[in-house]
Amino acid sequence: MSTETFTSAVATTRLQRLPLQNQQSLRAWDAADELLLKHIASQQLVQANSKVLLINDHFGALSVNLAAVNVANISHWGDSYISQLATTHNLQANQLDTSLHYLSSVAPLTESYDLILIKLAKVTALLETQLNGLAAHLNDGGNIIAAGMCKHMPMSTYKVFERFIGSTNTSKAEKKARLIFPKVEQLQKQELPYPISFTEPSLDLSLSNHANVFSKESLDIGARFFIDQFQQLPAAQNIIDLGCGNGVLGIIAKRIMQQNRIDSHIHFVDESFMAIASAQQNYQQAHQQSKDASFYHSECLSQLPDLPVDLILCNPPFHQQHSTGDYIAKRMFSQSYERLKPQGQLWVVANRHLPYAPYLKNIFSRCNTIAKNNKFVIYQLVK
Ligand code: SAM
Repeated sequence: MSTETFTSAVATTRLQRLPLQNQQSLRAWDAADELLLKHIASQQLVQANSKVLLINDHFGALSVNLAAVNVANISHWGDSYISQLATTHNLQANQLDTSLHYLSSVAPLTESYDLILIKLAKVTALLETQLNGLAAHLNDGGNIIAAGMCKHMPMSTYKVFERFIGSTNTSKAEKKARLIFPKVEQLQKQELPYPISFTEPSLDLSLSNHANVFSKESLDIGARFFIDQFQQLPAAQNIIDLGCGNGVLGIIAKRIMQQNRIDSHIHFVDESFMAIASAQQNYQQAHQQSKDASFYHSECLSQLPDLPVDLILCNPPFHQQHSTGDYIAKRMFSQSYERLKPQGQLWVVANRHLPYAPYLKNIFSRCNTIAKNNKFVIYQLVK
């Protein structure tokens, strides 16, 4: 069966994941999308004039299927810029109206909806923030339905729904997916601990992290080991923090350049809205200014303007949503090579068990190991 043709209970559409790959084995939807659309169709929960909020619709499977049956008022809310790109891409590929409302995870909702459909977030803190944000945004008589794969639904997931919305019922599992039907009993804003702040005394740095930011409660040990080597960084003016998370790598790199009296500009890049918002706030707090830094929502380096790039720092991701793999990391490495000036450098921290070295050596003219310990290795790649 094609990995791109999705026949749901409401429509047949063609869906692709972004970034596009030559040999894509993973589909852009899952059994939870299928089950959710089947339920909506059988219960006739949506009409052309319904106001629908879709949360975490990763590659736009729900958006495209609802647009295909002429639902005109769709809002798409999540923490992923790639999800927005993929949804537009898939709407266009199916010749559908692309004018849906994209809402970033760091902007509160301003309207209310008849139907709210939630694909479960991987990170519980993000789900909590999203459910908390729904207070006062469901129209009278409206429905909230969540969907996910059973293996991503521990008991604690139901507890989150009970805490923020009300008691839950569930559907039967189908193809290892399940729906959650929370009864709307207590949809009121609660105090949440996000963003989480902590101080890293050894770096003399405070960091504040939104709910979906990588390593939000303490400094990542890979990042820590990486930063320990930053005194060896080359002098650099344009520096990219690729997959910046809370921005810690770029913030410390800026400090090192300042200590060496080098004027530098740091370009922070991430596909997560919460990561970029956190990096922006942390940079401002650490350097008491917001100049000399730019912040980009981008799929790897695809959305960056042309720059004479001297240095790229990268602690790469090893998963996209729920699927693990090295495709995104390798894409970051090959795009880095394209973007660097001659003699420019990419510095990477990686888990030692990940076989990045042969790939990196194939692209770059030099690959040096700057440091390693029992868990991590740091590569310096020279163009
Ligand atoms: N640099 C931070 C650190 O060292 O703590 C975060 C590193 S974390 C391992 C990887 C980051 O890459 C995450 O913030 C994630 O949102 C981001 N990311 C994942 N896929 C991406 C993509 N395709 N394009 C841009 N950023 C991406």
